[in-house]
Amino acid sequence: MRILILGPQGSGKGTQAKRIAAEYDAPHVATGDILRTAVANGSELGHQVRPILERGDLVPDDLMVGLIRERLADENAFVLDGFPRTVAQAEALDAMLDEIGKPLDAVILLRVSDEVATGRLEARAREEGRADDSPEAIRNRLRLYHELTEQVVDRYQLAGIEVIVDGEQTMDEVFADIQDALQVVAASR
Ligand code: AMP
Repeated sequence: MRILILGPQGSGKGTQAKRIAAEYDAPHVATGDILRTAVANGSELGHQVRPILERGDLVPDDLMVGLIRERLADENAFVLDGFPRTVAQAEALDAMLDEIGKPLDAVILLRVSDEVATGRLEARAREEGRADDSPEAIRNRLRLYHELTEQVVDRYQLAGIEVIVDGEQTMDEVFADIQDALQVVAASR
């Protein structure tokens, strides 16, 4: 299965993506994790993106598309988390998958309100101390989600492959809804 998971920061995307990846035996490709690892390793990419991550801004599309192209090149299945965040990234992803004849099977949207997302991010900031979980960065990331990533959400909704899941339920309830949706997808393949 080739699955995309969308939702604002704090929607529980990462947690659910990991569970789906384990269930379907597909790699979990999380662009945020890839970038944070680069920062932690002090690589050239890490130096380049560190200030961007700290502000909660978006890394330039070209850089992200190149990174994903390389990462997905040899994968038949994946759970993609954190990409695409802009229409340009979505267009590049669709073109890339089209080219290799491996279209997406499903797009899952975890819907949560800004209040719930902000509350969860603030709790995570206290627990994990992520540099991009400062109040300003949280506000900036949610603003960018509404301004840019919601257009990606609309794009996949129009394409008819998006499933909306209520992300405000418990983790297990969200996962059960995702499993139900993916069973329908698998049965129709
Ligand atoms: P995440 O863990 O998905 O919330 O990503 C953490 C940070 O990495 C984001 O706030 C962005 O600065 C950067 N990032 C991750 N994925 C992307 C992407 N697809 N496009 C641009 N920036 C990204």
